[in-house]
Amino acid sequence: MAELDMPKPSMTGAGSAGLTIDRVTKHFGEHTAVDELSLDINAGEFVALLGPSGCGKTTMLRMLAGFESVNGGRIQLGSRTLASPETHVPPEQRDMAMVFQSYALWPHMSVADNVGYPIKLRGLRGTEYQQRVQQALALVELEAYAERMPQALSGGQRQRVALARCLVSDPSVVLLDEPLANLDRHLRATMEHSFRDFHRRTGATLVYVTHDQTEAMALADKIAVMKAGKLVQWGSPETLYREPRTAWVAGFIGQGSQLKVAAGHPGKRLEGGALMAGLNATEAERSQLALVRPEHIQVSMQPPATHQLTAQVDSVIFRGERFELGLRLASGETLLAYHHTAPDVGSHVAVSLQQGWCLEPEQ
Ligand code: ATP
Repeated sequence: MAELDMPKPSMTGAGSAGLTIDRVTKHFGEHTAVDELSLDINAGEFVALLGPSGCGKTTMLRMLAGFESVNGGRIQLGSRTLASPETHVPPEQRDMAMVFQSYALWPHMSVADNVGYPIKLRGLRGTEYQQRVQQALALVELEAYAERMPQALSGGQRQRVALARCLVSDPSVVLLDEPLANLDRHLRATMEHSFRDFHRRTGATLVYVTHDQTEAMALADKIAVMKAGKLVQWGSPETLYREPRTAWVAGFIGQGSQLKVAAGHPGKRLEGGALMAGLNATEAERSQLALVRPEHIQVSMQPPATHQLTAQVDSVIFRGERFELGLRLASGETLLAYHHTAPDVGSHVAVSLQQGWCLEPEQ
């Protein structure tokens, strides 16, 4: 086995304990920021809390960290209760570390001194101190930058220093609050690779707050989708994409079209034949909302065959590897489809829908 492939010693205590969030509630005055939220997070899992601005993600993360108390429910790390209305373990005793959006490095300290500061505060000195700092820098691949000052680093490198600083104290859980929000698009993509790599090498339990669905899908093992303080769905990125519960989740994650059909049942897949037949029913009969992803729509420039529908091309956008077509059916409903050539706007194409997913009504 090559040296690079050897597992590095864990700095995170990963594998030790899962995190349980049990009906956690937080009120700010009259406003309920987090409403009976429950999640079981396995040790070593990479979890994203995803939702629009103001849905309570940061409040949930701050309750995990211990910066906010809880008004109801319970937070446990393994069998240890960290928070409940009666219990509040202070942040420094929770075995967790948090990385903020603004990485807040100390400008007058070198990279190595920034990283080592938390363990220096705890009185660590000498060889053990040096080894821990080296190990944390190695985990974020910044060993060569140990003596640099933060001002001489890129945004992505500064964020990696902040990560190393949180790892040095060997936490069981790392909490990240929109850590890529201040970086440009290119750097965000690079940092997504760094985060995945970092997770693979440390095996740490990561809870990552973001409002960016593509970031959550690219990074997380599991995603908790939140809306107005409540958990609306909890599952792997693939499950959320293929089997979103409601129209709201379907609209928030990935692209697609939502059509009314007279077929199917909520939470079930609808095959192409039944979907097409269900679209042809009368308006009154079409009471089930079905999601159709663009990759399940076949577009043909030939005149429509009997099993196909006719659609008018409303828009064509070039996306490099394909064209994105905005189509309109005779019913007035719109469809988003992909094609490798560009039809004329205003022309008609034949479409067949290969499968759909039946959504639950909004609560
Ligand atoms: P964003 O993506 O914009 O950061 P978020 O999902 O992280 O949003 P939170 O910051 O958790 O949302 O806020 C949830 C709700 O609680 C918001 O309506 C916010 O205004 C409110 N809130 C948060 N902190 C406080 C506070 N200290 N006092 C009063 N209200 C608060």
